[in-house]
Amino acid sequence: MISYNLRCAKDHVFEAWFQNSAAYEEQVGKKTVACPTCGSKKVEKSIMAPSVARSGGRSDDLTPEKMAGMLVKLRETVEENCDYVGGEFPEEARKIHYGETEHRDIYGEASEQEAEELAEEGIEFGRIPWVPRTNS
Ligand SMILES: [Zn+2]
Repeated sequence: MISYNLRCAKDHVFEAWFQNSAAYEEQVGKKTVACPTCGSKKVEKSIMAPSVARSGGRSDDLTPEKMAGMLVKLRETVEENCDYVGGEFPEEARKIHYGETEHRDIYGEASEQEAEELAEEGIEFGRIPWVPRTNS
């Protein structure tokens, strides 16, 4: 199982579980996924707070191999859907948080300290272990 944070056309964010990413594509493609708040079936993945596995319970059969596979998928999803801002991440995340720039999904790097500062300001962001791309 994999969970996605989905966002409808009206910007409601909700979590939905799918068998795998292919099942997500199929169900959203066939419009069988509806926003629980407004019923909109125009939904897409929301990337600001990626979550791949529930903490506690459920993950008992999560092997390192499975985890690695999920992280590769997560990385692909993030790269597909978000703008890469590199080391500008903390600054861009702030601008988005304070409405100084158009809301968009971004990803990039932040140091431990920068991440802590963002968290202290109440800025939501996801931290994911970045798996190295296989160089081939
Ligand atoms: Zn909605």
